[in-house]
Amino acid sequence: ARSLTWAINPPHLLSEHASINASITRTRFPPEPNGYLHIGHAKSMNMNFRLAFEKLGVPVEQRRTIFRYDDTNPDAESEEYIDSLRRDVEWLGWEPERTTYSSDNFQTLYELAIRLIEKGLAYVCDMTKAEMEAQRDLAKRRSAARAVGKDPDVEAPIPSADVLPGRNRDTSVERNLKLFNEMKLGLHEEGSLTLRLKMDFESPNPNMYDLVAYRIRYTPHPHAGKGWCIYPNYDYTHGICDSLERIDYSICTLEFETRREPYYWILWALDMYRPNVYEMSRLNLEYTVLSKRRLLKLVNAKYVRGWDDPRMPTISGLRRRGYTKEIINKFCNDVGATRAMNVVEMVKLFQVARTTLADGTRRAMAVLEPVKVVICNFGEEANKAGEGGLTFEVQNSPTDPSLGSHEVSLTEVIYIDSEDFRLEDDPTYFRLSPNQPVGLKYHGGNLICEEIVKNDDGSIQQLTCRLDTSEGRPKPKSHITWVPSDGIPCEVRLYNHLFTEPEPSDLWEEELNPNSEVIHPNAMIDPSVLNLVDKKDVNKWKSNQALQFERLGYFVVDTDSTFESATQTGKLVFNRTVSLKEDKAV
Ligand code: ATP
Ligand code: MG
Ligand code: MG
Repeated sequence: ARSLTWAINPPHLLSEHASINASITRTRFPPEPNGYLHIGHAKSMNMNFRLAFEKLGVPVEQRRTIFRYDDTNPDAESEEYIDSLRRDVEWLGWEPERTTYSSDNFQTLYELAIRLIEKGLAYVCDMTKAEMEAQRDLAKRRSAARAVGKDPDVEAPIPSADVLPGRNRDTSVERNLKLFNEMKLGLHEEGSLTLRLKMDFESPNPNMYDLVAYRIRYTPHPHAGKGWCIYPNYDYTHGICDSLERIDYSICTLEFETRREPYYWILWALDMYRPNVYEMSRLNLEYTVLSKRRLLKLVNAKYVRGWDDPRMPTISGLRRRGYTKEIINKFCNDVGATRAMNVVEMVKLFQVARTTLADGTRRAMAVLEPVKVVICNFGEEANKAGEGGLTFEVQNSPTDPSLGSHEVSLTEVIYIDSEDFRLEDDPTYFRLSPNQPVGLKYHGGNLICEEIVKNDDGSIQQLTCRLDTSEGRPKPKSHITWVPSDGIPCEVRLYNHLFTEPEPSDLWEEELNPNSEVIHPNAMIDPSVLNLVDKKDVNKWKSNQALQFERLGYFVVDTDSTFESATQTGKLVFNRTVSLKEDKAV
């Protein structure tokens, strides 16, 4: 008969836990260093460092969260990933009680494995991968038969005990200790032997079919070094580490629900302290993928320029794109913790970005595709306006005077955006055309198009315009932004969704959006923004990191920038974090 002693439903443990250490409640955040963290991990961090405690009513001073590298697979892991994980956790503002590595427990895990062998609960198995799969498949079919009240011996008969429960299952403790020691000493080939847990082939849960606890792998470990050639598997390691670290609430995503049974079986078999296990739904976000494996593929196939490409849903990509920790954490908090599977709309993230960046962000005028405008009556207008009359003081933020102001000066040559000029009018078009004047923001006068100078290929070389400041001038349908003649050339990168489908399918590589990045290499910005640049490091802005380009959205300097403000040399690159309104986003 099956024993269910290990399958404890966590809520029953709550009171037991309270007595272990009533003054402290501990959770953990255990990423594997096999890629960069993404916004799904940010949700998990928000849960483990804050939300879980809030839900449990744990006072702030009693909260503890361990940041653990769940590093049991040296093939996929690297120091680069280890470093990036730490950086991202810190950047998001979370302060772990301590940082641990599962691999620091390799010796303990090994000794516990020996204890399991001695208890007759683990054995060394020489079945090949294919044999194990056939075994598992048979056990599954037998369990399915049992589930519908059929006879498994009829539906899925066992051809031989060598197959199920397997030829190695009932071997002696001595043999298993000897072979396991040989595995550790490196006397066996990779893939030739495994250590398996003697669990339950009659369970309806395939995760109980004698899990592999150890495998042979002659790969050095990025943290533990070269000392090991046997490595513990995730399922074996995870619960034991939780237990050793005295985790009260081990929170994972729902796909691990069926792993709860082996989790408790292992701790039961070792008679170790058992944490509460809770599952919550994974965060899925529209138009992107949240899986390190898939993101790695995007990087390796060069669909993006790296893990920190501004289109990536990674913490480093979002950071480079201008998403602050406030935006990311607020978004995660809004998403909350649920068990319901759902796909969160990308616009929710955009909306949090807009509201977070709205008031404190310094404005500046910019044009993406500059059209040169020569003001033919500039001298006259300058005379009329008098000394300093064409220099305007502009508040950095219309809603927050504490952010100060900057000056913009109208010059004889200005640049306007190609979108703000059209050769042909239509009733829904409110900006400049040969027959329609347009207002100039801050100056207030009307620009009237007098002449269009074209290049040989028909493209527009420049416009000659007259500035109308007369009392009786017509009221323009709109005012456009502009950049003076000493505007700073820059490259502006706009971003659209990475995928064309809200929920990328298995064919996700074909669903990549070819226009996920739109580059404007010849954009220009108001020169006053140079006051915000750190003279030595263009990636550092004196005030806030973000800038609002009027009418265009929120922007941040990209790490590709090489621009030096002192000499005005090199390249200045901006990324659009988010547009001002939703319809402009895609
Ligand atoms: P991935 O498929 O991206 O590698 P994972 O679950 O294998 O995800 P881990 O590095 O093992 O990644 O995850 C560390 C923690 O973050 C785990 O507790 C995991 O459940 C959680 N986590 C990972 N992805 C998400 C997600 N999309 N939403 C919520 N939590 C997540
Ligand atoms: Mg994992
Ligand atoms: Mg994974």
